Amino acid sequence: MQNIAYYNGKVGPIEEMVVPMNDRACYFGDGVYDATCVVNHVPMAFDDHIDRIYRSAKLIDIDIPMEKAEMKKLLQGLCDQVEGDVLFLYWQVTRGVGMRNHPYSGAGDKPSLWAFVRPSKMRDPFGVYKCITVEDKRFFYCNIKTINLLPAVMANQKATAAGCDEAIFHRGDRVTECSHSNVHILKDGVLKTAPCDELILPGITRKHILAICRAKGIPVVEEPFTLQEMMEADEVFFSSSSALTCRIGEIDGKPVGLKDEKTFALIRDGYQEEMKKECGLA
Ligand code: PLP
Repeated sequence: MQNIAYYNGKVGPIEEMVVPMNDRACYFGDGVYDATCVVNHVPMAFDDHIDRIYRSAKLIDIDIPMEKAEMKKLLQGLCDQVEGDVLFLYWQVTRGVGMRNHPYSGAGDKPSLWAFVRPSKMRDPFGVYKCITVEDKRFFYCNIKTINLLPAVMANQKATAAGCDEAIFHRGDRVTECSHSNVHILKDGVLKTAPCDELILPGITRKHILAICRAKGIPVVEEPFTLQEMMEADEVFFSSSSALTCRIGEIDGKPVGLKDEKTFALIRDGYQEEMKKECGLA
C-alpha cells in the first residue's frame, strides 16, 4: 500500500478517509497527538512516543480506553502495510464525537483514535539549515502535545516563505523551542537546552540527545538561554523525530554557529547509530 489511514476502526487510503464533523478535533482541536519516523518498518523510540501520548491525554483529562500494548500493536499493524524504507507515523486521540458544546462531560464522550502512515524522507544529517526567529505567542501548555497548532503553523509558514527550514520561538529574550522541533546550543563544549517546563515540548529526540551527551562526556545544562547566547553559540541545532539533528548555519539572515563540528558530530553520529541499531540496520 502507498499509505494508510485509520479512524475508530475504519481503515483505508488517507485521501478517502472521512471522519464525523462532530469529532471535537474539528471544533476545538480537542485532542493530543504523537508522531515518529519509521525506518525499516520499525517506529523509532516507539515506547517513548506511546508513553508521551498517554501523558498528554491525561494532562487534558482524556482517558484513553485502550492499553498501551494494544495501541502499539494497532499502529505497528498499520506501519507493516505501507511500502517504503522510511515512513512517517502520525496518530492522535481526540475527546470524541458529540454536539458542539464547550464542556465535555456530556454522555457519549468516547475518545477517537486517528492514525496515518505515509512515505517520508529524512533530512540530510550533514546539511546546514536556515532559520528565522518568531515571538512565541503560544499558550502555556506547550508541554502537552495538543493538536492546537495554529501559532506553529503560522510561524512555520513564515519560515518557509523566507526560504528557511524552521522558525525558532522566543518569549522576549528567552529562546523556547521551534515550531515543530527543539533547539539546542553548544558553547565551549557544553550543550545547553531549555528545561522541560510548560514552555516547551519534552522532545523524545531531545531526551535521546541528552543521554548521548552524557554517555560521551559532553556536559549538559538544562537552563533557558537567550537570543544573544544563541547567536554567539559555537553550534546551534534543532531536533525532532522526523528531522533528527539539524545543524543551523543562519538565523534571520545572519551567520551562526558552525564552530564546533567535532562536538556536534559526536551527537549527530551517536543519534544516527542509535537509530540504525534500533531499526536493525547496524
Ligand atoms: N517541539 C515541538 C513544538 C514539536 O512539535 C516537536 C515535534 O513534533 C518537537 C519539539 C520535537 O519532539 P520529538 O523529538 O519528540 O519529535
